[in-house]
Amino acid sequence: MKFKADEIASVIQQEIEQYESRIDVRETGRVLEVGDGIARVYGLSGVMAGEMVEFPGGIHGLAFNLEENCVGVIILGEYLEINEGDEVRSTGQLLSVPVGDAVLGRVLDPLGNPLDGKGPVATSHRRPVETPAPGVADRQPVKEPLQTGIKAIDSMTPIGRGQRELIIGDRKTGKTAICIDTIINQKQTGVKCFYVAIGQKESTVAGLIEALREQGAMDYTTVILAGASAPAPLQYVAPYAGCAMAEHFTHKGEHSLVIYDDLSKQAVAYRELSLLMRRPPGREAYPGDIFYCHSRLLERSCKLNERLGGGSLTALPIVETLEGEVSAYIPTNVISITDGQIYLQPDLFFAGQRPAMNVGISVSRVGGAAQVPAMKRVAGGLRLALAAFRELEAFAQLGTELDPATQARLDRGYRMTELLKQGLYNPLPVIDQVFAIYAGTRGHMDRIPVGEVSDWEQKFLEFIHEKKQGLWDKIEAAGDVELDKATGRNAELEAAIAEFQQVYAEKS
Ligand code: ATP
Ligand code: MG
Repeated sequence: MKFKADEIASVIQQEIEQYESRIDVRETGRVLEVGDGIARVYGLSGVMAGEMVEFPGGIHGLAFNLEENCVGVIILGEYLEINEGDEVRSTGQLLSVPVGDAVLGRVLDPLGNPLDGKGPVATSHRRPVETPAPGVADRQPVKEPLQTGIKAIDSMTPIGRGQRELIIGDRKTGKTAICIDTIINQKQTGVKCFYVAIGQKESTVAGLIEALREQGAMDYTTVILAGASAPAPLQYVAPYAGCAMAEHFTHKGEHSLVIYDDLSKQAVAYRELSLLMRRPPGREAYPGDIFYCHSRLLERSCKLNERLGGGSLTALPIVETLEGEVSAYIPTNVISITDGQIYLQPDLFFAGQRPAMNVGISVSRVGGAAQVPAMKRVAGGLRLALAAFRELEAFAQLGTELDPATQARLDRGYRMTELLKQGLYNPLPVIDQVFAIYAGTRGHMDRIPVGEVSDWEQKFLEFIHEKKQGLWDKIEAAGDVELDKATGRNAELEAAIAEFQQVYAEKS
């Protein structure tokens, strides 16, 4: 038999080319100790911070602490199945989650595994959970509104696409309700929504998912769930995972909204991990980098510039306070990172003022630029008027005689606060809000008994849609409404309201 020299040469060359890919060059190490969701691993000297490692049985971990002699790994799964001496493999990849249209409508854990029984997410696209935030040159100022459908918010603390607005308040003050309403209000706007539930009761989240489904909002929403029983590592990773899924759409030039409910529980999970890893505790025993943990997450919200497609990522982080203590460590941190906060107050909530927004200390620092002009005109001055009303109200409780002007301001205030009440899962289109707030701020409800305000509002809006749809459409198309400089009123609106007042008076 004769061999051709060049044939042999080409075979050898092929073998050499494939040499690298044939042998498994991944590093392995051994578990030194394991417990409480973390493991110390010896022998992974080449591992990256944030790299995924693999334990036997397909359990994943995340390289968290790179120490001199070992690597501290947080275990993203059942740590009870891992034993001392087990082999650990590095994967050479950062932790990533599935992204794309396939995640919409799903309930997933922070690693992208299905929790809704609908099988694996059908996509091969993945995105690292941690990516650097876009830089200044990649961004542009917020310019489009993100309508929440909630009168108190859209009129006084408007949110823009790409903004970070904190929702802060004690437990059971309606924080989640605001976010769910906002998600429901994104129907037909093309905004993709991501609800990250951290450390919450699973029954509560199941109820929320059911509500979203009933309202038809699950079509464009993903729920990322790390419940109260989930291990601390999953609760810590959850917001980054949700952010990565949302970012995918942002970088495609689309708009997305992500809700972190809530970051105080994530901070607690991170504190637990850090203490187990023996990182030095700081204020309130939180690790020194807890601020960085939240800022690198929230900095990823952005409005990208046109060159990058003009997509946006709006974030509504939630923080729970204890006894209204906004000057605690985590609340002050997150307040300083975000572009404003909506503060929910328990006494207002229990007095039936829902949403229980405290108008005086709630702000939105950038959203005003994106507010619908019609709303801006109609609701200008409302914040100050309401804050002044709250002071007057306290004064009036002393039972002193009031002069007619003060009494009139009080009457207006009672009706405006009544008007700003809004039920659950009942977001209102912004033009409807403009009509209602116009009527309220221009005193057309002053003679209506306080108890009838919401009835009046409802009938008024029905009347407008039945009889004055042309005017409604005109304001919607223009996005603006012209007001007389001297009186601050609009003749067409005044005429419509006068007509309705007659109908209302006849009926009642
Ligand atoms: P937690 O601290 O448990 O997370 P939370 O601050 O998120 O609570 P929610 O769960 O949103 O509060 O609301 C608490 C309760 O108040 C719920 O039962 C909800 O139905 C009710 N609620 C919230 N907002 C309104 C509203 N605008 N109108 C009527 N009921 C409301
Ligand atoms: Mg809640």
